[in-house]
Amino acid sequence: MAAESKGCKGLFDEVIDAGLCTLCGACTGRCPYLAYYQGRIALLDNCTRIDEAQCYDYCPRTHIDMNAISQKIFGVQYSDGEIGNTKEVLIARSTDANITEKAQYGGVVTTLLSLALDEGFIEGAILTKTSDGKTPSPFLAQAVNDILQCAGSSYMACPVLERYNQIPEDNSDKLGIVAMPCQVLAVAKMKANPPANRASIDNIRLVIGLFCTWALSPQNFYQFLKENLDLSEVKKFDIPPPPANRFDIFTASSKTSFPLEKIRKFTMPTCAYCLDMTSEFADISVGSVEDIEGWNTVIVRTKIGAELMEMAKKKGKLQIDKLPSASLAHLKEASLLKKKRALNEIIKRSGDRNNLIYVGLSTKLAEKILE
Ligand SMILES: Cc1cc2nc3c(=O)[nH]c(=O)nc-3n(C[C@H](O)[C@H](O)[C@H](O)COP(=O)(O)OP(=O)(O)OC[C@H]3O[C@@H](n4cnc5c(N)ncnc54)[C@H](O)[C@@H]3O)c2cc1C
Repeated sequence: MAAESKGCKGLFDEVIDAGLCTLCGACTGRCPYLAYYQGRIALLDNCTRIDEAQCYDYCPRTHIDMNAISQKIFGVQYSDGEIGNTKEVLIARSTDANITEKAQYGGVVTTLLSLALDEGFIEGAILTKTSDGKTPSPFLAQAVNDILQCAGSSYMACPVLERYNQIPEDNSDKLGIVAMPCQVLAVAKMKANPPANRASIDNIRLVIGLFCTWALSPQNFYQFLKENLDLSEVKKFDIPPPPANRFDIFTASSKTSFPLEKIRKFTMPTCAYCLDMTSEFADISVGSVEDIEGWNTVIVRTKIGAELMEMAKKKGKLQIDKLPSASLAHLKEASLLKKKRALNEIIKRSGDRNNLIYVGLSTKLAEKILE
């Protein structure tokens, strides 16, 4: 089920030096040889412990047996649907004005995490925090106010999983995590083949995945921002849905917009090889809703996800409605397009239709996506 471990050397040869690193943080935070430093993974010393090294195993860009992971998370084979395994697809928004004021869209993520913490469902949450005009960093929230401070989207990649790796082995706090599709994939790999030397991966009780088309390189994009804005003033970033085609940056008193074309050059090269737009291995996945401002699209995927959504509804924390069928059709279309593009890029790179580099999909499903 797990990739054949090739240790740190394999990780550099196949992923980092190959430009495929997602900066998910699955390889840093515990290993003495690897560190996240200014938007890249640095090798501090030559690793000789290939037999113990787990960096290669949990990387979301080394071999992934999609069926095995799906069996572990959902108890069924990997879905051939455009948006993965689903129980329900809804739209929702927070009923708490303190949250909607700070949140990216409807504040569903912040609301669900706050509720989960209040109800003792989790005791903390691994999130992404952006403060004082810095690049985003992983953050362990242990109070509702901490969760609120992390509301909003930084579109730069952040090594969220590094924070999980830093938790002492004997810590048994139940945790939530908010993660990008690549990071959700790394968590799913860990759940399918638990790491030996970290806090139990089963302590991560709730995985909220974000939708993602691409993320920006912290190194390059941060430099661009610094040259164009006073970053300490920035309150919010946004990429309004098409046809807007712009990247907006808000301060307390102004809005600066850049054409998306100008921003796209800062995307992480690895995003071109990612098949997952909707965080398919999460308990709940959350994104925007085209044409309905201030709401989120919510995909409920697991029993835990369904229980939490039900609790939020009963306690009046979320306003929930049906996703209009045209929006669902569009979401599926966009998600399939991401899969198709990524597979084509992967095949272009490997030069062989049967070599999908890291993606362990059946030939039948790969051909269906490529149709
Ligand atoms: C890089 C990136 C690309 C995205 N692309 C799309 C897209 O193409 N289509 C779409 O519909 N939605 C996309 N989203 C998701 C969207 O921006 C919102 O995060 C989502 O709709 C949840 O909204 P909310 O109001 O519930 O979030 P909030 O309640 O404001 O919560 C946002 C949460 O996002 C987390 N977060 C912020 N920045 C990051 C980061 N860099 N990495 C990991 N977690 C982070 C925070 O921890 C916070 O808990 C993207 C998000 C990111 C970070």
